[in-house]
Amino acid sequence: MWSYNFELPILLILSMILVFYFSRPRLPVRRNLTFVHLIVIETLTILADLWATMVDNDPHLYSMLTLKVSNMLYFCLFFIRAYIMYAFVASVAMDTFQKKNFLRVMTALPMLAGSVLAVLSATIGSPRFSQVIFYIERDGYHSGSLYRYAIYGIGFGYVLMGYLSLLLFRNNIKRRREIYGILMYNSILCLGLVVRIVFPRLLLMDTFVLIAILIIFLAFGNPDFYLDLSGRAFNRRALREHLEQDHGSLKMMPFGLAIHNFHEMDDIYGRSQIEEGLTVIAKYLKHMFPQAIVFYCRNGRFVVLDRPGTDFDGRLQEMTERFNHPWRSGNAEVYLSACFVTYEYLAGGFDCDVLMETLLKALDTAGSAEPGQPLHITRTDVEIIEQERHVRQAIETALDEESLLLYLQPIIDAGTGTIVGAETLSRIRDAEGSIIPPGVFIPVAEVSGRINALGEMVFEKTCEFIRDVNLDTLGIEWVNVNISPTQFLRTDLADRYSAIAEKYGVDPCKIHLEITEESMIDDGFLQKQIWAMQDKGFVFVLDDYGTGYSNLSRLKKCPFINVKLDMSIVWDYCRQPDEILPNMIRAFKSMGFAVTAEGVEDENVQKIMKEIGCDFLQGYHFSKPLPAEEFIGKYSLKRVGS
Ligand code: C2E
Ligand code: CA
Ligand code: CA
Repeated sequence: MWSYNFELPILLILSMILVFYFSRPRLPVRRNLTFVHLIVIETLTILADLWATMVDNDPHLYSMLTLKVSNMLYFCLFFIRAYIMYAFVASVAMDTFQKKNFLRVMTALPMLAGSVLAVLSATIGSPRFSQVIFYIERDGYHSGSLYRYAIYGIGFGYVLMGYLSLLLFRNNIKRRREIYGILMYNSILCLGLVVRIVFPRLLLMDTFVLIAILIIFLAFGNPDFYLDLSGRAFNRRALREHLEQDHGSLKMMPFGLAIHNFHEMDDIYGRSQIEEGLTVIAKYLKHMFPQAIVFYCRNGRFVVLDRPGTDFDGRLQEMTERFNHPWRSGNAEVYLSACFVTYEYLAGGFDCDVLMETLLKALDTAGSAEPGQPLHITRTDVEIIEQERHVRQAIETALDEESLLLYLQPIIDAGTGTIVGAETLSRIRDAEGSIIPPGVFIPVAEVSGRINALGEMVFEKTCEFIRDVNLDTLGIEWVNVNISPTQFLRTDLADRYSAIAEKYGVDPCKIHLEITEESMIDDGFLQKQIWAMQDKGFVFVLDDYGTGYSNLSRLKKCPFINVKLDMSIVWDYCRQPDEILPNMIRAFKSMGFAVTAEGVEDENVQKIMKEIGCDFLQGYHFSKPLPAEEFIGKYSLKRVGS
């Protein structure tokens, strides 16, 4: 006897999922659509299964036609369900699956073949040999010769394809929860098929499919994953997914709104009151742009995506005006000002991470500026972000492959004209092999959290250089290494650097660490760090003097051995000599600092800098920075003469 016991609760649970799912705003992305298809097809399959089972149980009560149609329907839906179950995995794992019709048709072939066989099996007048899945006789339903092969071949086939897609494209899946979700989902389906073979009469397969659907719902489908502000706006993740679906082309027109000084407002009003206010703003935006999708990307940043051609500019005045009034909800009442961002229409060609970064960065910039004219973002702004990502990529590669390049530039004794030291200057290569200069990648590394790793690599390579090359044969007493101010935020900097120096057997006093003047801004912490490093034997040089803010009394507190004059003040002086620079140099020397002039590009500058008392000179006149090998080749043979 067939058992229906499992089917009714399954239908109930499915309808509950559907009700819950449709009661919340949903992001219009294909994955969500596939999920809805999945639930609908499963519901239809169960109904067809119940119908066919009922009819097959008492064949004499029904017409031949009913017998044929109910069974045909069930089998077709069985194959379609197997396909949709797989299509969901594919839509998560493979970007290309969404785009390549060829792939979709190819993977749909087993489903189509199965369905054709099911239809043939039911077609009146079709020859018996073609009724391979089932045939109906007066005494009722009979399985056809290929019944098992078709059902289990196609069923297991799609499960296998699901595993394969996961294996091949798992890197496309961002969250671990989703990978596990798909793995479990596929395994449950597989188990369901096995149970169907063992207990064909229990109709247990649907229970397994239901569990699989629940897994998907928990791992992907829950609309709350994508909502913020009590469901009034989609969240940042939803925006990402939306951009991802369109492969970085913004098919819709974006518009941004940032709350001015959000963090301050957050402090003043308190989190819950602010959230209430933001919820009302989200509602207002939806009211202003009924066709749009409104996203809230935390920290007071809204992105509105509407159809191309939407007149955002025309509404600016009205929205600005609205912000003169408070946002009220229950007892909450907040006064906020808004800054707006408009975007050039950016259809096509960008990576979705780049677009996402552009959208959010513009909102940050707008939010910290005074409310006024909207910030307009153009294609060029996106290209700048794209370039930055390109640099970030190159930094990652340089770190992974330890392929950072060490260049060295000689430092010359002004008195004798011979080389006494060198400064290491780093370079990295991009994927095409072109050199990226430090002026480009250091600032990027500083804001992307990679400066510590990069700085340590420069330092380590310098130590390696000192270990492998006899500095005496190069006529060098020390090597200068640049250290970024951001690196000083690391409290164990002194320990790490001294451990590296020790590893290579390098005496720390052979290494002069150059820090730029701008880093003098927060002196308390910096000083403590400098002292800690000094205790380990390192010495410090003040770099780029004349470009930032520092006064002599602050300088006195830091134990520099050398001050490097930035090339801009060197050139200014040579163009128009005055008393300031010579006096400054005198003051430095009386404080015990040696002085180095940078940017010495010709003999004239060399002469002037020597005359006003510089101890050391550095610049293209002596040599450009050279790759380490070239530097060794050049300076182990001859010394620079004046
Ligand atoms: P910097 O420390 O002031 O280094 C001097 C820069 O001026 C170098 O540029 C050098 O190539 C250039 N230069 C030297 N002599 C002349 C000259 O006569 N004329 C002109 N026009 N330029 C000259 P580079 O190598 O592009 O480095 C730029 C900056 O990047 C450096 O300025 C330094 O602040 C930073 N940097 C370089 N390597 C590193 C590093 O490993 N770590 C950190 N944190 N910063 C680094
Ligand atoms: Ca330097
Ligand atoms: Ca400098």
